[in-house]
Amino acid sequence: MAPKNEPSFRQSVDMMFNRAVALMDLPPGLEEKIRVCNATYTVRFGVRLRGQIQTFVGYRSVHSEHMEPVKGGIRYAMSVNQDEVEALAALMTYKCALVEAPFGGSKGGLCIDPRQYEEHELEQITRRFAYELAKRDLINPSQNVPAPDMGTGEREMAWIADQYARMNTTDINARACVTGKPLNAGGIHGRVEATGRGVQYALQEFFRDRVGVGKSGLDGKLDGKRVIVQGLGNVGYHAAKFLSEEDGCVITGIIERDGALVSDEGLDVEAVHNWIVKHGGVTGFPDGTFVAEGAKVLEEPCDILIPAAMEGVINLANADRIKAPLIIEAANGPVTAGADEILRKKGCVIIPDMYANAGGVTVSYFEWVKNLSHIRFGRMQRRQEEARHQLVIDELERLDRYLGDAWSMTPQFKEKYLRGADELELVRSGLDDTMRIAYQAMRDVWHERGDVEDLRTAAYLVSIDRVAKSYRAKGL
Ligand code: NAD
Repeated sequence: MAPKNEPSFRQSVDMMFNRAVALMDLPPGLEEKIRVCNATYTVRFGVRLRGQIQTFVGYRSVHSEHMEPVKGGIRYAMSVNQDEVEALAALMTYKCALVEAPFGGSKGGLCIDPRQYEEHELEQITRRFAYELAKRDLINPSQNVPAPDMGTGEREMAWIADQYARMNTTDINARACVTGKPLNAGGIHGRVEATGRGVQYALQEFFRDRVGVGKSGLDGKLDGKRVIVQGLGNVGYHAAKFLSEEDGCVITGIIERDGALVSDEGLDVEAVHNWIVKHGGVTGFPDGTFVAEGAKVLEEPCDILIPAAMEGVINLANADRIKAPLIIEAANGPVTAGADEILRKKGCVIIPDMYANAGGVTVSYFEWVKNLSHIRFGRMQRRQEEARHQLVIDELERLDRYLGDAWSMTPQFKEKYLRGADELELVRSGLDDTMRIAYQAMRDVWHERGDVEDLRTAAYLVSIDRVAKSYRAKGL
């Protein structure tokens, strides 16, 4: 629990914003225009459930419309409130600008504990919420495009898409009204894994930045690094899975709601995830050591700490006991502004949320483009690419006959080279490229400007500058 003198999430975002704009030369009016949230719509609606009417409170906040549509997830949690939704909407503005996704920032939330409801009840509630938002253009392919967030996933997005389509029967672009849909409802390959995949690509790019790695006090490669992850949900599970299976990281701690698991030898992410799906938590998992006070494990020594659950978990109460030299904010706002200052002074490097978890919105952007173009990526060029590669292989094989064994191709090379890229490969390639380029933009500011000491400030500088340019171009 965060201490009383801790700024709220919204205040934290404002403080971080202010730290960055203090280093910029923006006209005061424009600075204020960028900072404030344009509008927040609050809806209270009733749904008849279990024989009585239950009232729900939901929000959709639009932070900045310098580009439209605006974009941002819909969260289902009891902790949802206006302040939180507005802070998250502001983060979306900066995140989209940083990864060059052509959207303004928005966010939505419904105050609900989804685990308390049956699937058909959740469908009723979601459809009603979607109806309330869609009739005010707060769900609309060209105005406001939601996505999944904490407590929501493909299933909810499919209900929202269908609800919008029922209300807008002649809108040929109806499917583009929401992203994160299942494949059979207009989704895109690679969206479910996207945010965790983006965390992996972010770390890979960080470890290519030798100066940055040096600043964190770490050395060497990602391979063999000891990682603690908090929250094995969509984002945390995929990040931990890819880092352990593909990059040689050792997952020494997994923190969940009901406690944590630790193991020096490393935990099997897939096995822990299957256990959580079956039993609802990590309690009783046969491997590793169970720690009842899970949050304490955030303070254990490791190379990389990945908070991937919720905001405010690293705060004034525990920041000085955090030992990780590198934190990557897979969740939104896991480090409060107060904790950020303490950690910076200790030399800890924080890869900020607005960059670290931008994989989700990046692939959402690809999905939106796919929906608007009404064709899956790779459909036109895949076989043509294969045919051209076949030409090269045929020619090399013809030469082979003259040059002898020393020149022969390995069968693996031939197979890989011949295969044209499918949608998943293209999505991963686009995501990797986006994460690399965005990191490089932050990195240059971080290393080259003497007055910027951390990546978060660098990220804000890059994105606020882009938003400011966009407002200026509009004549504001
Ligand atoms: P999720 O609901 O799939 O997973 C959250 C996980 O955290 C669950 O396993 C839950 O049990 C666990 N958890 C909740 N409270 C906890 C606590 N106090 N201690 C330990 N574990 C706890 O949600 P998600 O989609 O993975 O989102 C997680 C974070 O990532 C959120 O901050 C969200 O805003 C952010 N995010 C998500 C996406 C996305 O594409 N899903 C994109 C960008 C950012």
